Amino acid sequence: MCGIFGVYGHKDAAALTQLGLYALQHRGQESAGIVAVDDSGTARVSRAMGLVSEGFDDEEMTDLIGPISIGHTRYSTAGSSVIENAQPILARVRGGHIALAHNGNLTNAVELRRDLENQGAIFSSTMDSEVIVHRIARAQGATPEARVANALVGVEGAYCLLVVLDETVIAARDPHGWRPLVMGRLGDGYVFASESCALDIVGAAIEREIQPGEVVAVDRHGFRASQGLRPAPLNRCVFEHVYFARPDSHIFGGSVDRSRRALGRRLAVECPAPGADLVFAVPDSSNSAALGYAEQSGVPYELALIRNHYVGRTFIQPTQSGRDAKVKVKYNPVRELLEGKKVVMVDDSIVRGTTTRGLVSLVRAAGAKEVHMRVSSAPIISSCYYGIDTPRREELIAARMSHDELVRHLGVDSLGYLSIDGMLSAMPDGPGGYCHACFSGRYPTAIPSEPELLRAGG
Ligand code: SF4
Repeated sequence: MCGIFGVYGHKDAAALTQLGLYALQHRGQESAGIVAVDDSGTARVSRAMGLVSEGFDDEEMTDLIGPISIGHTRYSTAGSSVIENAQPILARVRGGHIALAHNGNLTNAVELRRDLENQGAIFSSTMDSEVIVHRIARAQGATPEARVANALVGVEGAYCLLVVLDETVIAARDPHGWRPLVMGRLGDGYVFASESCALDIVGAAIEREIQPGEVVAVDRHGFRASQGLRPAPLNRCVFEHVYFARPDSHIFGGSVDRSRRALGRRLAVECPAPGADLVFAVPDSSNSAALGYAEQSGVPYELALIRNHYVGRTFIQPTQSGRDAKVKVKYNPVRELLEGKKVVMVDDSIVRGTTTRGLVSLVRAAGAKEVHMRVSSAPIISSCYYGIDTPRREELIAARMSHDELVRHLGVDSLGYLSIDGMLSAMPDGPGGYCHACFSGRYPTAIPSEPELLRAGG
């Protein structure tokens, strides 16, 4: 759960990166950072805890000069919420530098780190991403991109990377393609971003996605692309389309808004609510799915729940106490719409159930006669090890309770989840090539042997 952004060949590279990070703020709100490299090859870094808007004052931005820049917004779990774990990482090596921004989680980081420590490597953070920096520092290669590709041999799990090796920008995506990474052009320059919405904000033309296993490089010798990593089965994260990415982005070959509407339409077919007076979303990530549900069912769509935009996302707040307190601060129902009505409440997912339970009680207190909960994804029953910070299995409510228990616990009149097949059929290019492990429990790769040591990724 991180956002990465990078620029090559624009005089205001760091300022563009800051703008790009604004557009990727939803991917991580805990820290933000920018590295810039000037014309003489000097790299500078600025990192701060908190939001992009809080992280960089004018003085810091003035220092971040040069035509090359990469940036990162980060979310992490409790315990690793420290500035040492903010990215990009900047390391000085062999008279040059390596800067790295990583989105994803490595599944064998613990083993790789132990090997490196046994060889004398010293780590300054608890991030799995630092392992990659050490490997790049040690790797050989005829070109900068070959060096990065060689460093990635044996690295398992999910990664989209932006690396600056001296004055070369390199973008790489793991062979399974878990996380999105897109590339655009801005004048003579190149722009890279986790999602296309970040290219829009800087006015870059979207060129294409970085392909799974691809390593691309751009420097004064020009742009080079190669299938640098050994091909592997596609495991793109279905949850990016369900919840995580912005609806104005195109990822994995299609529009997130379109896939969410398709999820909502399919949900209306699989889980109708006969006689409902209105359908509304748990804003904002469920808006498109609720619209799809309304389109398909013919039930009127209403804005019956209002979100306060000045409070962060419930799901990605690091502590449970913060999460509880924020439900009421974050949402308020529109009584005039709900009073005496049989309503369909659409959400994209239920994780711990705390927010849903709080919302149902808010909606009932506002006078709703019946509350029918509809979820535009399947029940989440397993943890993610590939870069989305779902909690441990014991905390996942659908893993702990039967359907009837969930109905009682959430306080709803009925509860309907989309099937896994229904969810996959709504993806832009059909159901193949997606990871659905958190919904099915079927992990496409070996899972980490010591997952508790792994929860500090980018
Ligand atoms: Fe995405 Fe779930 Fe797979 Fe994680 S386990 S990559 S959240 S689909």
